[in-house]
Amino acid sequence: MDKKPQNITDVRSRDDLIVVAGAGGFIGGSLLRSLHEKGFSRLRAVDKKPLAEWYQRTPGAENLCLDLSREENCRRACEGAVEVYQLAADMGGMGFIERYRIECLRSILINTHMIEAAYRAGVDRYFFSSSACVYNTDLQKDPKVRALKESDAYPAMAERGYGWEKLLSEMLCQEYWAERGLKTFIARFHNVYGPWGTWDGGREKAPAALCRKVIKAKDDGSGEIEVWGDGTRTRSYMYIDDCLKGIDMIVHGEKLVATPINLGTGELVSVNELVSIIEDIAGFKVKRHYDLSAPLGVGGRNSDNAFIRKVLGWEPSTPLREGLAKTYVWIEEQYFARKAGKRTVS
Ligand code: NAD
Repeated sequence: MDKKPQNITDVRSRDDLIVVAGAGGFIGGSLLRSLHEKGFSRLRAVDKKPLAEWYQRTPGAENLCLDLSREENCRRACEGAVEVYQLAADMGGMGFIERYRIECLRSILINTHMIEAAYRAGVDRYFFSSSACVYNTDLQKDPKVRALKESDAYPAMAERGYGWEKLLSEMLCQEYWAERGLKTFIARFHNVYGPWGTWDGGREKAPAALCRKVIKAKDDGSGEIEVWGDGTRTRSYMYIDDCLKGIDMIVHGEKLVATPINLGTGELVSVNELVSIIEDIAGFKVKRHYDLSAPLGVGGRNSDNAFIRKVLGWEPSTPLREGLAKTYVWIEEQYFARKAGKRTVS
């Protein structure tokens, strides 16, 4: 379904200054590019990585390399902004967030200083990228999980480290609205994937990692891949274009001020099903070796989209197979470019 959006107010002018934090990464970089394509002419991109390591660079944007865990840098980042999109975080797939809980928790510094700086700069709207990892883990033990609705975050038992940081930062957004009147918007992303995402190096998530493994198994002739866990764990995955469209509608949805909302698909698949879809796209069958000692995360997690359908008359709808086909082609290009010694993303 893709009906006309409801309850959306967008009064921005094309020369309002828009700031994207974490713009050197996957979603931030894609968001910046989409704002440029929509005709916004004053864009500020901020990330702590050196510019050469940014995944994408948007023509005409003001690029700042700043560590946003420092207050003074957040003030510089937010100066003069009308809208701020906060997508900077030290994060990655399950392999990263289970191994580096302290780094994940330290993103609280970014979220503490960014929202205060945005408030002091008098921004009109502030967006925070939260995660489905805020949901109570007790509800996610079974691969045949009931889809998670927004109220399932409380009573709280979030994913250790990463999930708790997100939950507390959501609360900051809610209190800045309640006490100080800053219009904040909070989306709980469910596994975003697509071109320009991290596909190698330890921070990648399952769809990109499995695409890369299948591409490699096909290329080097081994025909074998390692799968984390026994393949039965389930998740839903959202294509990047849906994520960008959702962010835009949520930030301009007047009924969503300081209200966390799921942004994900309800298309639940197991890891084994994910591998089978990738095999189909690759036209190549692999032998799967299951690593039962690998980081696994919860048993199952899916997005209940009743609320987003109700308030926006819309939900992410790109079929997994369609989004993965585009992602596979892009990762294959990166893989062979790297093999040829050329510069690639991640
Ligand atoms: P990403 O790792 O590609 O991008 C995050 C960017 O933040 C990186 O470029 C990183 O250098 C930057 N960063 C980290 N610490 C910083 C600091 N101190 N100062 C400035 N920049 C800093 O991740 P992504 O997939 O684009 O995720 C964007 C946001 O969405 C994050 O908040 C993440 O937690 C959230 N999220 C993503 C997913 C997903 O599936 N990708 C799911 C749920 C939530």
